[in-house]
Amino acid sequence: MKYALVTGSSRGIGKAIALKLAALGYNILLNYNSNQAEALATQSAIEAFGRKAVLLKFDVADKTEIKEVLGNWTLNNPDEEIEILVNNAGIRDDVLMMWMTDNQWENVIDTNLNSFFYVTKVVLDKMITRKYGRIINIVSLSGLRGLPGQVNYSAAKAGIIGATKVLAQEVARRGITVNSIAPGFIRTDMTKELDEKELKGVIPMQRFGTAEEVADLASFIASDKASYITGQTISINGGLY
Ligand code: NAP
Repeated sequence: MKYALVTGSSRGIGKAIALKLAALGYNILLNYNSNQAEALATQSAIEAFGRKAVLLKFDVADKTEIKEVLGNWTLNNPDEEIEILVNNAGIRDDVLMMWMTDNQWENVIDTNLNSFFYVTKVVLDKMITRKYGRIINIVSLSGLRGLPGQVNYSAAKAGIIGATKVLAQEVARRGITVNSIAPGFIRTDMTKELDEKELKGVIPMQRFGTAEEVADLASFIASDKASYITGQTISINGGLY
């Protein structure tokens, strides 16, 4: 049975993607950082599909933890294939740049951007050897157009959009696709303090999106049907640009 690794899949968009991929028949490597109760609840929901859900607790901002926890899992399970990687875990910490601290810059860059490099490095070699893989990065509208107060977050997401284009070209001959999904406003814990009633006025579809809608797009990109799509950043934002 093949595995899909979804970083930050205890809650929100990552959880919805993990559930869709489990429904497609994948076992799930369920990464989270701290919220064990939500991770256990997601694990049970995945097991209800008759799939395995292996909890991998590591901080994607910490390359040592990535190597220890994820690296050791791959070493101890040499016959298991991670066919799909979804780099989803992310945080935001918004403030105008003139007030942004070193810590706010570094945390957001480490969690959203550096994690792409260190997590992908662990799984890429085997995808190349097996000549098949799907890498999906969850970025943001903020990385495409830039949003005031998010110089850290926009820089991180724009960085991944660039990396997506390059890695896609490097591994295309190996049967691996690399794409990004750029959501607009999606109803999750990350946006719960935002006022949807006020913000929906600027969204042509007049509402926030749902994690399930993002997950439907991710599961299409993860499927064989999307085998000629690579290096792309696909927006899902209700028409907001
Ligand atoms: P969320 O509801 O806040 O969930 C975040 C998930 O990421 C949780 O599972 C959390 O784990 C995990 N996580 C956070 N920091 C982590 C770390 N250092 N190491 C490992 N896991 C970590 O967020 P979301 O809205 O689903 O966002 C998911 C992705 O979509 C992010 O990359 C975000 O930037 C992007 N996005 C979201 C929106 C939106 O409107 N919601 C829009 C555009 C892009 P714990 O449960 O352990 O905390």
